[in-house]
Amino acid sequence: MADKIIVGGVSVDTRHWIGGRRVASAETFADSSPIDGAVLGEIARGGPGEAQAAVAAAKAAFPGWAATSRGERARILHAIADGVEKRLEELAIVETTDNGALLRSHRRGVMPRVAHNFRFFADWLLKLGHEDFETRGHTNHVSWDPAGPCVLITPWNAPLMLATWKVAPALAAGNTVVLKPAEWSPLTASLLADIAAEAGLPAGVLNVVQGYGSEIGDALTSHPDVRRISFTGSVPTAKRIAGSAAANLTPLGLELGGKSPLLVFADADLDLAVDLAVEQYDNAGQVCLAATRFLVEETVAEEFTRRFVEKAGQLTQGDPRDEGTDIGPNIHPRQLEKIDGFVQRAVADGARVVIGGQRKDAQYYAPTLLTDVAQDSEIVQEEVFGPVLTLQTFSSEDEAIRLANDTRFGLAATLVTGDPERAERVTAQLVAGTVWVNCFFVRDLQAPFGGSRLSGVGREGGTWSFDFYCDLKNTVTAPNGWSRNHG
Ligand code: NAD
Repeated sequence: MADKIIVGGVSVDTRHWIGGRRVASAETFADSSPIDGAVLGEIARGGPGEAQAAVAAAKAAFPGWAATSRGERARILHAIADGVEKRLEELAIVETTDNGALLRSHRRGVMPRVAHNFRFFADWLLKLGHEDFETRGHTNHVSWDPAGPCVLITPWNAPLMLATWKVAPALAAGNTVVLKPAEWSPLTASLLADIAAEAGLPAGVLNVVQGYGSEIGDALTSHPDVRRISFTGSVPTAKRIAGSAAANLTPLGLELGGKSPLLVFADADLDLAVDLAVEQYDNAGQVCLAATRFLVEETVAEEFTRRFVEKAGQLTQGDPRDEGTDIGPNIHPRQLEKIDGFVQRAVADGARVVIGGQRKDAQYYAPTLLTDVAQDSEIVQEEVFGPVLTLQTFSSEDEAIRLANDTRFGLAATLVTGDPERAERVTAQLVAGTVWVNCFFVRDLQAPFGGSRLSGVGREGGTWSFDFYCDLKNTVTAPNGWSRNHG
């Protein structure tokens, strides 16, 4: 196996990063590009041995990093952000080649956000605090103590953005990390290891292990020295991880799938509704937050559909490296098969194809809208994770809310209405971690992010991230440091 491969002109190390050095595995797996299916290289295929080594390295590095002052930790996190910005173009091209998402969004949105993840949590750390309060003259002081080694497991749809959303607060909090990126998009995590080392992060504080989740996952998530597991991915994997973590009652944060609704009321600005609706094809539909179920008031459904079809017809699908492309490929032939299976079963079940409904070729799925779908059907209830949307109609606000809430998920909801009172009423009744009113995908790291029901456990963002990655401690001190006044 070559230790390094060249991807988009950038050299990427294919080995693990454990304890501040590169470590190979006896076996490898092939990583291919969704753009054309070409094999990019052979990547180290870690198993239990590599998991043990990485956790041991994280454990050994923990006392030193935990004892490092907040100011110094923040300084190093800012240095990592500097490194990301310096190598932004390289990260963007490697990520696009590896996971097929648009180069222009990696350049302008995603990689700047990766740098921001480090800056934000570095700055938040410095102001993290809770006002002391008094109990019968005693002072209560709340502190956020580092928890220990953290295992962070991430998916392929936004690899570096999602990984650093976890890595940054975990490191800021004084923890050490073992990061396991997805096997379909392993490359930018390896570049992050280089960047962190160049920024002066001590050896063992960040470790990156590669491999199939089914082979390396259990050894990471059942390890007794791991004090936090943060996972972003699918519900079946989350259940498996929760079972494995149960052995040590390791605290878990889970960011999972969704089947989020877009509610369009008759009083909505229809052009806005259609703009937001077409956005749901972003990243070829491989976005956990995507509002994949259109719920449209029946009096405007025909007009909404007409305008949606017209606008969707203007989207360009093709090579994600081209500036003019709106929709790139799907991640892997297996994902395309899965997407097509959902669509063909829905059609067999009576769904009508408004647009799309089939693969374009081996890498791309045509943007699809299906209607005449039953609320209890698979296509309405299950996450497809591809450019497949459904449209249903409603005739009253109550019905809209009922349909919106009637899945096992609760990640997000978007509503479009011209009536602020309606917006307030409906929002209050929606089960979702994030609700957008007349907008979509406006995000802020200060806000709590996460899902209800099967969409997740816990929240990330701002102080919520530190609450998860730390052991909170309340220290009660008697007046003058001593008291006989117990109770
Ligand atoms: P997945 O669950 O198949 O894999 C996610 C990660 O888990 C990968 O790194 C994989 O190697 C690892 N894994 C697999 N088996 C494991 C095991 N037994 N133990 C430990 N790790 C294991 O998910 P995916 O297909 O990569 O990602 C798509 C899913 O992620 C979708 O459901 C999507 O909605 C969800 N997602 C959620 C969010 C969110 O913030 N809520 C964001 C992005 C993606």
